[in-house]
Amino acid sequence: MASSSSAYVQAEAFPDGVTEYVPLRNKKYDMRKPHITEQPITLKNWYQHVNWLNTTFIIFVPLMGTVSAYWVPLHMKTAIFAVAYYYFAGLGITAGYHRLWAHTSYKASLPLRIFLAAGGAAAVEGSARWWSRDHRAHHRYTDTEKDPYSVRKGLLYSHIGWMVMKQNPRRIGRTDISDLNEDPVVVWQHRNYLKSVIVMALVVPTLACGLLWGDFLGGFIYGGILRIFFIQQATFCVNSLAHWLGDQPFDDRNSPRDHVITAFVTLGEGYHNFHHEFPSDFRNAIEWWQYDPTKWAIWIWKQMGLAYNLKTFPQNEIEKGRLQQLQKKLDQKRTTLDWGIPLENLPVVSWDDFVAESKNGKAWVAIAGVIHDVGKFIADHPGGKALISAAVGKDATAIFNGGVYDHSNAAHNLLSTMRVGVLRGGCEVEIWKRAQSENKDVAAINDSTGQRIVRAGTQATRVTQPVASADAA
Ligand SMILES: [Zn+2]
Ligand SMILES: [Zn+2]
Repeated sequence: MASSSSAYVQAEAFPDGVTEYVPLRNKKYDMRKPHITEQPITLKNWYQHVNWLNTTFIIFVPLMGTVSAYWVPLHMKTAIFAVAYYYFAGLGITAGYHRLWAHTSYKASLPLRIFLAAGGAAAVEGSARWWSRDHRAHHRYTDTEKDPYSVRKGLLYSHIGWMVMKQNPRRIGRTDISDLNEDPVVVWQHRNYLKSVIVMALVVPTLACGLLWGDFLGGFIYGGILRIFFIQQATFCVNSLAHWLGDQPFDDRNSPRDHVITAFVTLGEGYHNFHHEFPSDFRNAIEWWQYDPTKWAIWIWKQMGLAYNLKTFPQNEIEKGRLQQLQKKLDQKRTTLDWGIPLENLPVVSWDDFVAESKNGKAWVAIAGVIHDVGKFIADHPGGKALISAAVGKDATAIFNGGVYDHSNAAHNLLSTMRVGVLRGGCEVEIWKRAQSENKDVAAINDSTGQRIVRAGTQATRVTQPVASADAA
């Protein structure tokens, strides 16, 4: 379409500050050269598709650690240290890489930034600069081809496949990381990444356990390698599990989901549907009882004067989003129910034809100008066969609405499924209009699927004003 393509051109030309990703360590990748990912994987070239550096760090090294753990006894002090160091590295990713650098959901003082960059290096998941660039692309292009870890390519791909296999740099959406290039901590960590990893992920745990209680090997295996393995697998779940398992209370158009299991695994990053809707909020869990230790840590740092400018979305906007999603679910549910043929789609029948058809054996009853075929219902009528049969071929508006019995909302609902026509010049239109002017609840509004919303007590057959019945006359 011409209009949408011109909108696309406009969007392309819009100066949104995106920059080509410039690697600070290696030579700039030549974008003109064909990339290996443009060739299909075959038996001859599969090893060229593998990112061997990443594979070594996230598969081979952890495997070696797991095997060697068999011969290395685990000491209590080393176990406690490994768990504590796990949280340190985890917060480096969740509070540092994710909420501070990728989303700038708060500001951190220099000592806290150094602490978080050190923790991030201990987790061995790439530099903060590289990680944030991909993560911003993930938010901007969620579930599309430009999403670096789109769950649409499979759970395993979003978890680990995107790192184990080489990525075409042209495919990943471009993002603006000029702010990160101005943070000296981010730039230093990026330039000295390998050194940072060796020191923070392996040397520190080994020396800490070795010098403090003589367990060098345990520190290396449990505090280093196995702890890296666990923190990697846990935080990778933000890209996989958080896009696969759970509810979507804020928006169900894309894959992000909320689940407490994901939250437990990822230091509170499991409320991912909320997070994708409100990404610059420093919280992922908004209820006090939900598990979000990353949020608690940021809050404590704020009390210590290390973090400031914590961003939150207005509660009004959050509740609006929640309500709209709820409404959408209601609309979907509404479409699955039988509400009868819409009044405007019913054939118009004259009074004489109505009477004639009723005499010819049709069990037609007119109520509020709407003709209903009650034939199949006569035997089941709770008020007995006689009353309903007596109404056939007649206008039963008054007796249905209180003349004999003031029928329930459920009865009006059931009646609406029996509609077959409207009376020409019947009082339906007048009654509908009058009901609307008298009762503000009765508005002919449609839901997002185009269906008329019929609230309790507002069926067209319900007459709110007492109608003079034949008996009263
Ligand atoms: Zn996500
Ligand atoms: Zn995010």
